[in-house]
Amino acid sequence: MTPLAIELVPCLSDNYAYLLHDQDAGLCAVVDPSEAPPVKKALAAKGWKLTHILNTHHHFDHTGGNVALKEEFGAEIVGPGKDRDRFAGLDTGVDESTGWSFGPRKVRVMEIPAHTSSHIAFIVDDAAFTGDTLFAMGCGRLFEGTPAMMWSSLSKLMTLPDATRIFCGHEYTQSNGRFALTLEPSNAALVARMRDVDAARAKGWPTIPSTLGLEKQTNPFLRPNSPELRKTLGMESASDVEVFGETRKRKDNF
Ligand SMILES: [Zn+2]
Ligand SMILES: [Zn+2]
Repeated sequence: MTPLAIELVPCLSDNYAYLLHDQDAGLCAVVDPSEAPPVKKALAAKGWKLTHILNTHHHFDHTGGNVALKEEFGAEIVGPGKDRDRFAGLDTGVDESTGWSFGPRKVRVMEIPAHTSSHIAFIVDDAAFTGDTLFAMGCGRLFEGTPAMMWSSLSKLMTLPDATRIFCGHEYTQSNGRFALTLEPSNAALVARMRDVDAARAKGWPTIPSTLGLEKQTNPFLRPNSPELRKTLGMESASDVEVFGETRKRKDNF
């Protein structure tokens, strides 16, 4: 099987949509199209025809291009089956038990609520599309969930292999990293990663994808058991959920 081609499509001010192209099957999916025009431009540049639209959650900056792309290409919209009411034109509702198939590929669907109550991730081969739940060095805001719910969702993602490539919904990496450094200034992996991120951003390059292994080393939201992070927060004997919750609260005010 030819490896899936993944093309990053910058949208709006800091969103990313992704094109997934299966050359053998002649299929092309877009993940979280914020708006149609940049997606159409990327498709035309590649000579790919859109067949599917995948949504991780209902927020408009992830679904804004759905209707226009569906009208133009007749593409099938796939999203959280447990949230049909909030998706205009949803064709195929999926969840953890149904999974999904992209041509010959089995796609794993992970239910990872908290940013929204029905947020899902799509795991295709070694790529995880994590929407607004897991960001590079960050995590999404808790609009429809508790710290315990988000910690459980992130813990679920952390069961994937370390080599899993993480494709998230926004370019927030540099500001996330600055916040991370306030909690773990002595984390050598974090310091090194921030050097790379600053260099990439200075050239206007994306910092996506990362890997789950790198996130585990540098993302404070995956590191509530870090002694340095706990010491910074003054929470040496707290539970992981409590430490995670405090980290999230501090980021909200950062
Ligand atoms: Zn969102
Ligand atoms: Zn978003």
